Amino acid sequence: MIVVLLGPPGAGKGTQGERIAAALGVPKIATGDVLRAAVKAGTPLGLEAKGYMDRGDLVPDVVILGIMKQALAAPEQARGVVLDGVVRTVPQAEGLAAVLAELHRPLDVVLLFTIAEDALVARLSGRTVCDGCQTPFTGRAPSETHAECAQSPKGTLVRRKDDEPDAVRNRMRVYEAQTAPVVAWYRAHGANVAAIDALGALDVVQARALKAVGKG
Ligand code: AMP
Repeated sequence: MIVVLLGPPGAGKGTQGERIAAALGVPKIATGDVLRAAVKAGTPLGLEAKGYMDRGDLVPDVVILGIMKQALAAPEQARGVVLDGVVRTVPQAEGLAAVLAELHRPLDVVLLFTIAEDALVARLSGRTVCDGCQTPFTGRAPSETHAECAQSPKGTLVRRKDDEPDAVRNRMRVYEAQTAPVVAWYRAHGANVAAIDALGALDVVQARALKAVGKG
């Protein structure tokens, strides 16, 4: 089963994506995680992506299409995959459609997480993430150790540079200008687009999402 998660930054795609992937028994790919790991490791990909990411701008399509192709060709994805934040522009949606056509695999569902902008800004400005495993938290301070982190050495909670107010505002503008049209593109191409109300307790939102992927 191939599931594409769409929605503005802070809508909970990452957290819910983990839960959906676990329920379906398939991996999750998040281009944001791939890029952050590359930045941390100082690879050429990371060096290219860092400036865009820190400002809250999108990394060029050609870079994302490369990551997408490589990830989808991996054998672990044979049973399906949850794609979190992987499709953010119309050219990326077209690129994914071409890769899936080549692999003779259908896109089963597009989950669109919807939520009001003031709720997003509040969520992102109170968020810290583990720099090891990327788990997000609200109400936990930067520089705390993440004792539950599965990585070694244990992660430390940090505030993402792109969760600073200026970058958050830019990410919202980028979403409206470049990613919102992707929803219309999928609808125009006959995809199964399911809107999920992303406001609510984690388990409540999860139940809505699982219902939409036929696991509820
Ligand atoms: P995320 O963790 O999904 O919020 O992504 C963090 C940042 O990584 C974004 O603000 C972009 O700079 C970059 N990024 C992640 N996925 C993509 C994508 N599909 N297209 C372009 N840039 C991306």
